[in-house]
Amino acid sequence: MARVSNKVALVTGGAKGIGEACALLLAKEGAKLVVSDLDIAAGEKVVKAIKAAGGEAIFIQQDVTDEASWPKAIAATVERFGALHVLVNNAGIAIPGSAVDATLADWRKTMAVNLDAVFLGTKYAIPAMTGTVGSGGGSIINISSIEGIVADPNLAAYNASKGGVRIFTKSAALHCAKNGLKIRVNSVHPGYIWTPMVEDFLNSIGDVSEGRAGLDSLHPIGHVGEVMDVAYGVLYLASDESKFVTGSELVIDGGYTAQ
Ligand code: NAP
Repeated sequence: MARVSNKVALVTGGAKGIGEACALLLAKEGAKLVVSDLDIAAGEKVVKAIKAAGGEAIFIQQDVTDEASWPKAIAATVERFGALHVLVNNAGIAIPGSAVDATLADWRKTMAVNLDAVFLGTKYAIPAMTGTVGSGGGSIINISSIEGIVADPNLAAYNASKGGVRIFTKSAALHCAKNGLKIRVNSVHPGYIWTPMVEDFLNSIGDVSEGRAGLDSLHPIGHVGEVMDVAYGVLYLASDESKFVTGSELVIDGGYTAQ
């Protein structure tokens, strides 16, 4: 029995990196997928891969910072698959900068993608999920970071946005639980995971292979993570196996924050 069969999942930033891995794994485990991203070509490729493996999926081009895009994305999901059970708020960006060096424009852009969009996705998904009778409840999974728990002097805006995701998730979880909505809301906190985001980040500050060795050494387990390490955590939170889990922080970091 597949772990999320009969569920419909929307994954933002689903064209690349962690989002792509989540979309592919959820589909492999039986979910019908809506892949949302800015990047049409990469998003369509993920949909093609899901279909080639026998799954069902559609692509929606969406800028998650645009409030008007959310009712449209959710309506398209319900129109195509009849319901929305799982939302993975994954799209995110990282712009380096300290509390002094970061520009207000970078700060606002980071907040818009990493925090405003998580709020918007949650705000519009809850009413849509509340209407899904017999689904076993909804699950909203917000991708935060270790950087939402511990700080980095050169990631001021990113830290603030991911810390915001962490506590916003708990507020939304309490709202759903106390109103008997049968919707769980949890955050996921990956350590460094090898994705285009991390590669681009290392490129912007110097040599990539040297940078990767440096990042490896930050994790007690000895290396950075892989996208599937996060996808398996997301799969657990999406499935009914986690039916008693809400308002929690799933840390997937090779021991980074245990130190
Ligand atoms: P990634 O490789 O850069 O992929 C992110 C995807 O989100 C890209 O396809 C990107 O599209 C899309 N995106 C960016 N802005 C968007 C917007 N406004 N609307 C819709 N889609 C948008 O990133 P990743 O490393 O997989 O990270 C995914 C999530 O995990 C992020 O929230 C990140 O903060 C978090 N995270 C990552 C790590 C890590 O080490 N990789 C660690 C902890 C947490 P374009 O490429 O076209 O912009």
